[in-house]
Amino acid sequence: MSKTKGGVILKTANEIELIREGGRLLRQCLNLVREAAVERVRTKDLDQIAYDFIVAQGGRPAFKGYRGFPATLCISVNEEVVHGIPNNRRLKAGDVVSVDCGLAWQGFIADSAITIAVGEVAPNHQKLMKITEESLYLGIAQAKVGNYVQDISRAVQEHCESHGFSVVRDLVGHGVGRDLHEEPQVPNFVSKDKGAKLEAGMVIAIEPMVNTGTFEVVSKRDGWTIVTVDKGYSAHYEHTVAITANGPLILTDGK
Ligand code: MG
Ligand code: MG
Repeated sequence: MSKTKGGVILKTANEIELIREGGRLLRQCLNLVREAAVERVRTKDLDQIAYDFIVAQGGRPAFKGYRGFPATLCISVNEEVVHGIPNNRRLKAGDVVSVDCGLAWQGFIADSAITIAVGEVAPNHQKLMKITEESLYLGIAQAKVGNYVQDISRAVQEHCESHGFSVVRDLVGHGVGRDLHEEPQVPNFVSKDKGAKLEAGMVIAIEPMVNTGTFEVVSKRDGWTIVTVDKGYSAHYEHTVAITANGPLILTDGK
């Protein structure tokens, strides 16, 4: 393990492989949650499914207890953007459900999120999900040695905005490894700051959070749930990605 100038902790090939092992379990976990996310199911039922699976596999839910977060999953429905706390809410047709999960395995953390459509959702919300997921992969394609974080940000932002959506500013992607949140920050929008130069051994979570309306968000009174200011719907997709000499390596796609 070595640190670069910007405080970014580079990972060895072995460490990256451990994150990938955890990432495979995480993918299975999210697949189970996706299958279970049907009408009438409570968000806390989904959380229990994820907790039971992770613990049975010998992993640890990385969000649970992180800064006091009470659950295995962040589940954010419709106008909720991220960090929703699973509760008694029952899913209904048309809901757009973002599910974010961190899994600790052998001392390393994998972080990934998906957005699930419950039943039939409105065409614009289907489009929101599709464009957001596409933007994640366009961002990942820029995660290569010699590029800057800003190249990822630009790819995400341009795709989303060209389809009439907005990217959240207040929350960003991040380095990940022994800690859930490490350097560098990985914004989904371009600013004056080019951000960190990407080098082999960096592991980052790329996670576009994309809204139908304004990019402005606010925190709810529970201190966790982030919602859009205008009640527009939001989607969220995330992969943990290693930057390698051979290009970006997705560690949470189950491969
Ligand atoms: Mg996440
Ligand atoms: Mg993350």
